Amino acid sequence: MHVVPFISFRPLRMEESQYFNAHTHKKPQFQNVWACRNAFHFSNKKSLSALKYSVSVGLHPWHSGLFSPELEKKIRENSLANNVAAIGEVGLDKASSVDWNCQLKTWEFEFGLAQTLKLPLIIHCVKAYYEFVPFCAKTNVPMMFHGFSGNSDVLKQLSKYEHSYFSIGPHLLKNKMIQELISKIPLNRLLFETDAGKFSIIEIYETASCILKIEMKNLQLLIKNNTLEFFGQKALLHF
Ligand SMILES: [Zn+2]
Repeated sequence: MHVVPFISFRPLRMEESQYFNAHTHKKPQFQNVWACRNAFHFSNKKSLSALKYSVSVGLHPWHSGLFSPELEKKIRENSLANNVAAIGEVGLDKASSVDWNCQLKTWEFEFGLAQTLKLPLIIHCVKAYYEFVPFCAKTNVPMMFHGFSGNSDVLKQLSKYEHSYFSIGPHLLKNKMIQELISKIPLNRLLFETDAGKFSIIEIYETASCILKIEMKNLQLLIKNNTLEFFGQKALLHF
């Protein structure tokens, strides 16, 4: 276990960081960790811009029943804050009770917004992976399946597209299926996250390093490169 000093000043810039957390719901707290924090739709542009770290904005599929012209306007506005690194988490969830048409309409808007703004997409997907195949085929921006848990066929279908990325989170620590799945993900499409979990990103790296049999410093370099490919220069410029 690495000892990570707690800082109260500022998270490091992406180019200085050793660990990369592509999706978290918590404030970045540690030195040498770059993170993209999820901001929900109730945030506003002014408060987002004041944050000293990268954020993703959008309407989660669980809230897509709230989608309205006013909320659309607000999401458009929020997406223009200078520290917005991605549109997310957005997507489709077949296990949710939210009306499917509302989910689709919201997702299609957010997919379009990401293309217009040239921002990558952080996708929440439950039992709906195949629905994303046509979007992977036509997207001009990277799409990351957060907390990926698809089967081999899903992975094969989605990874055919150069813009698809797969993010692995806290389930890696104890779920055998995810421990097997991670080895099948193309190495240049792999990202890490903590999501809403209580584990640190470093624990994800350490577990992945053992499973993939990749030395920690090489894994750090790999995930750094993948994170840069996914988020692009915009995230770098602001932090
Ligand atoms: Zn999340």
